Amino acid sequence: MNCLIIDKVWGGIAEELSKCMNVKTADNLPSSKEQLIAEIGDVDVLIMRVDPKIDKEILDAAKNLKVIGVCSVGLNHIDMEYAKSKGIQVFNAPGLNANAVAELTISKMLDISRGTFTANYDVKYNHEWDKYKFEGRELRGKTLGIMGFGRIGQRVGELGRAFKMNIVAYDPFLPDDVFKQQCATKASIDELIKVADFISIHVPLTPETKNLFNKKSIAEMKDGAVVLNMSRGGIVNEADMYEALKEGRIGGYAADVMENELAGSGLTGNDTFASPLFECDNFIVSPHIGAQSVDASKDIGVHIVAKVKEALGL
Ligand code: NAD
Repeated sequence: MNCLIIDKVWGGIAEELSKCMNVKTADNLPSSKEQLIAEIGDVDVLIMRVDPKIDKEILDAAKNLKVIGVCSVGLNHIDMEYAKSKGIQVFNAPGLNANAVAELTISKMLDISRGTFTANYDVKYNHEWDKYKFEGRELRGKTLGIMGFGRIGQRVGELGRAFKMNIVAYDPFLPDDVFKQQCATKASIDELIKVADFISIHVPLTPETKNLFNKKSIAEMKDGAVVLNMSRGGIVNEADMYEALKEGRIGGYAADVMENELAGSGLTGNDTFASPLFECDNFIVSPHIGAQSVDASKDIGVHIVAKVKEALGL
């Protein structure tokens, strides 16, 4: 049997699967659609993340394909119905990156509250030693409002509790028990926005959640409150956020995602870096690294190897 790995995944996957099949890693990672079509003809197992989109054309070229192991959570990039009609099993790794994303969320909360990155930059690169510039705020005793109380949202809540924060959560799709178990106060979206010192967004991007956080939401926020978005660009309206940050009434916006992201989108750097948010000192950002931890990659890899072996009866 042949396995093709087309993205940067935990090295143990190749090591483990090569004990029972031929494993090849694509030359260019992540693989392009054209490269994949050229190589997938004799592949039984495909290991990937989110690039490229697996459409009918690729699935038709994959004459022997039996299993796709997706080393991430979402499956939007795969034509699941067509894969199923061809008897191809698809496995992902839900929940296994929740802690990585939650820890990044907390690190940004701490950073924006204490100005750690700016302070580091000032001292190291500008040789400025101005302690009075950095009188920060603590997380202790503050209200953390979590929008979307699923796997990541709940883990953010647990970590927030360790910092002695009060947890308020909005998720209309969950039973009351979940909020009780997590020691969180259930709230409507409007209530949450009004009381939170930190608003952390963990809903998926859907037609309902596109622009969910907009001018109207910002207007309801407490003075100095901070918004965090580790979920998806497009949920927070960036033009509205820019206006709010410029005005200086809210405390800041911390994001791991942007409306126009480079990776996997076919966009150019110009599209991403044209965002006016980059003008704002109280905007901090990272390049969609929420799930990117060695620990999460390993947990996901171990899970995917087990699923592939089980599916093939190995
Ligand atoms: P999850 O499915 O466990 O939780 C999502 C929660 O959002 C669910 O409880 C659902 O009921 C709720 N929800 C859905 N629509 C809603 C709405 N309109 N209003 C309020 N709540 C709503 O998913 P998860 O694993 O916690 O991941 C959440 C999101 O985080 C993902 O959809 C993804 O966009 C993002 N994510 C980002 C990274 C990253 O690298 N930054 C990594 C993984 C996931």
